[in-house]
Amino acid sequence: MDVAESALPAQPAAQEVILRRQSLRESAARTYARSLPIVPVRARGLTIEGADGRRYLDCLSGAGTLALGHNHPVVLEAIRKVLDSGAPLHVLDLATPVKDAFTTELFATLPRQFAENARIQFCGPAGTDAVEAAIKLVRTATGRAGLLAFTGAYHGMTAGALDASGGATEGRVTRLPFPQNYRCPFGTGGERGAELAARWTETLLDDPKGGIPAPAGLIIEPVQGEGGVIPAPDAWMRRMREITATRSIPLIADEVQTGVGRTGAFWAVEHSGIVPDVMVMSKAIGGSLPLAVIVYHSDLDTWQPGAHAGTFRGNQLAMAAGAATLAYVREHRLAERAATLGARMLGRLQGLAATHTCIGDVRGRGLMIGVELVDPDTDDPCATAPPPAPALAAAVQRECLRRGLIVEIGGRHAGVVRLLPPLTLTDEQAAAVLDRFADALAAADGSPHRRNATGPSN
Ligand code: PMP
Repeated sequence: MDVAESALPAQPAAQEVILRRQSLRESAARTYARSLPIVPVRARGLTIEGADGRRYLDCLSGAGTLALGHNHPVVLEAIRKVLDSGAPLHVLDLATPVKDAFTTELFATLPRQFAENARIQFCGPAGTDAVEAAIKLVRTATGRAGLLAFTGAYHGMTAGALDASGGATEGRVTRLPFPQNYRCPFGTGGERGAELAARWTETLLDDPKGGIPAPAGLIIEPVQGEGGVIPAPDAWMRRMREITATRSIPLIADEVQTGVGRTGAFWAVEHSGIVPDVMVMSKAIGGSLPLAVIVYHSDLDTWQPGAHAGTFRGNQLAMAAGAATLAYVREHRLAERAATLGARMLGRLQGLAATHTCIGDVRGRGLMIGVELVDPDTDDPCATAPPPAPALAAAVQRECLRRGLIVEIGGRHAGVVRLLPPLTLTDEQAAAVLDRFADALAAADGSPHRRNATGPSN
């Protein structure tokens, strides 16, 4: 049934009660629940319906999980088929027809050169579990303990993944500069900034007194998501591949958020054409249910039986939902669609920047889009960009919600408004999302920050 046909009576009072109970019972670490005080009861495609009867356009998509939006018919059908077949739902890591079909479909989507010699390890059930497995895999295979990771990275919340993430302060991780145009650590941006970032990495690795633990691998997000939607330049990705390959350092591509068409290619490594040694995958591969795997070169498969285990490695419903999602994205060329529509949306957002000085930067790849909000009135001559404006970003998120639009906040300073719509987004829906966003921005942004309208009046 379509959300529009909802027969559920609106229950604003029930919504308030549930939200109050949640704030009393759930942990202080809860996140989205604070900034998005809604109680979803029904959802389809881009739309979520709250217990209060209001409808929202969901551009959070389960933090980038829902490639096909909520409750896509092919996903529901795949889940029902397993349920109706009497197949076991829990099988540890035993072989099943459902798992066999999922693996076949997943391998069919991978770059051919990578898939040819690949092995898969089912981890479970979250992205962070697969990151842990990847780190353990390369440590076992190389006998080295160190890890190379980037400023602004996000790889998950378990100990190893957290160590590799940008906020960590200790561990065996060496932090390398991730190139960024807008807040370039070298003050140059562009190709020059990326070149300097690569050169820093190269000299550090070759410096006998560099003081870094011998690296078992280098972990990289082809587009930093939580770090503020920062696409890695393709040429820099190729440099990272070359630098690691010549030093026998396995390269781990964390495609947890960028995978399954999100960035305009089925896998984001395809933009640069690099062949990683390990790929980490989760989120969209489970078609909205928990599933996480690593796929890696068979040369790295040196661990012993049981070296990596986990009770929930065999989620049959997730594999069925995931296989259906992967096939749908492939057959309907949704990666290409994400590239075209994403470019158009970026263009319109850049038009908005012409009339709002609080928009410092608009960036992204495919349907992974970020709008960095800044305080244009604070002038720091030493800084390459105005200071970030996290309070304004939060205000824009609130104003979006008031207008029935769910957006995400990210970035190093929580100053980036993020859009992660489903890849099934129609042109009309994209226009509605951008209209609401523009309206919310105008409401949150005081008139002192508005530029004279010299650009397109999007
Ligand atoms: N890697 C990346 C790139 C991510 O974006 C995330 C989640 N946002 C993770 C790993 C961790 O995934 P999970 O939250 O499922 O553990």
